[in-house]
Amino acid sequence: MDDFDPDRTHDDGVAYARRRDADDPLSGFQDRFDVPDDIYLDGNSLGPISDAAEQALERAVEEWRELGIRGWTDAGRPWFWYGESLGDDLAPLVGADGEEVVVANSTTVNIHTLVGTFLDARGDRPPGILVNELDFPTDHYAIRAQLRQRGYDPDEHLHVVESRDGRTIAEADIVAAVDDHEVGIVFMPSVLYRSGQLLDIERITSAAHERNALAGFDLAHSVGVVPHDLSDVGVDFAVWCHYKYLNAGPGAIAGLYVNDRHFGTTPALAGWWGHEKETQFELRERFTPADSAGAWQIGTVPVFSAAPLAGVLELVDEAGIDAIRAKSLALTSYLIALVDDRLADLDCSIATPRAPDERGGHVAIEHPEAERVSETLRERGIVVDFRPPNIVRVCPAPLYTRFVDVWEFTEQLREVLTNRDYENADVGDEVT
Ligand SMILES: *Cc1c(COP(=O)(O)O)cnc(C)c1O
Repeated sequence: MDDFDPDRTHDDGVAYARRRDADDPLSGFQDRFDVPDDIYLDGNSLGPISDAAEQALERAVEEWRELGIRGWTDAGRPWFWYGESLGDDLAPLVGADGEEVVVANSTTVNIHTLVGTFLDARGDRPPGILVNELDFPTDHYAIRAQLRQRGYDPDEHLHVVESRDGRTIAEADIVAAVDDHEVGIVFMPSVLYRSGQLLDIERITSAAHERNALAGFDLAHSVGVVPHDLSDVGVDFAVWCHYKYLNAGPGAIAGLYVNDRHFGTTPALAGWWGHEKETQFELRERFTPADSAGAWQIGTVPVFSAAPLAGVLELVDEAGIDAIRAKSLALTSYLIALVDDRLADLDCSIATPRAPDERGGHVAIEHPEAERVSETLRERGIVVDFRPPNIVRVCPAPLYTRFVDVWEFTEQLREVLTNRDYENADVGDEVT
């Protein structure tokens, strides 16, 4: 997406941004969200509330009031099948069959159960697991715990691909590492949470499969903003959360995908909610896993932390994931062009890959005073987040961010840096 350079079509400042907003097929979605600040560029950490999410939650509360226990069978979306039914609606976003997707647990718990499952069912595969050094830490904590619980020393069996530049992971290094180590499972993120690099899931999956390893992915930073085709590519399993680009609220229930070739495998963290549905209420002594991804549910579905997702998925379906991705790329291309043009002389540089097919939905701007700069922007009503040591992470989420917001962000950032307003920022104790 390089319609900004060399044509320089954006040189007329805010007028360009206004033209893009006027032409934006998704512009109508902005009014359907309640954004708490003037400009909210943190939707990859916690997305804002929408009318659709709120109404779906209220509907679930009303059903509880009116139906009580009958809600399990008589609610508009019966709670007994809630996880499976939301899985059906999510499946197109990750490119899978409905049976291969379910909402359940949290992302971290899903990593525990899926990695544990495939360690247990590893057959002739070695116990080694391949990850990378720029992963979100919870992924490593969970995988290490699963190795430990099976008597494998994580320092020996967790293989970590190193970054060459501290920002990105070279896919060639992942492929080489599958050869160099005894690897049974390759577990990688779709999008790196700091730099925003988008990895090639197909290439990594093929490399894993060629060496008899399984391929699992953490889609936390791509689901809802980047389309996926997990089934076609043959990915073995995946996890993700819904409170980032899918705006389902703080602590929303997470999602998981298991390729249908693995149905019937015994889940590491078994529980009655993953039992074969038809006989679940016979309350048998022994566990029979559902013949679907539903088997990886554990306990009773938390309806209120799943209900907002039902509303949001209608909204996302209406917008269309391809249109969402197209706008996301247009916004991030514009942001990158503005940083290059107007902020490079103020010590800002882009840490995110510039090729559109190598980045997710956010842009990482490096600046030596990133923490104070982020805080100063927040005080001005522009919410971004800081990732240590030097990254201002900026997410122009396509459903509620306008091109003029991106313009205004760069204007404000320019002012903060030029006047050195950040020097008085009070930092150090915030939750990140
Ligand atoms: C946000 C995120 C998580 C969050 O896990 P929770 O269990 O929801 O706290 C996990 N992995 C990655 C890569 C993330 O970006």
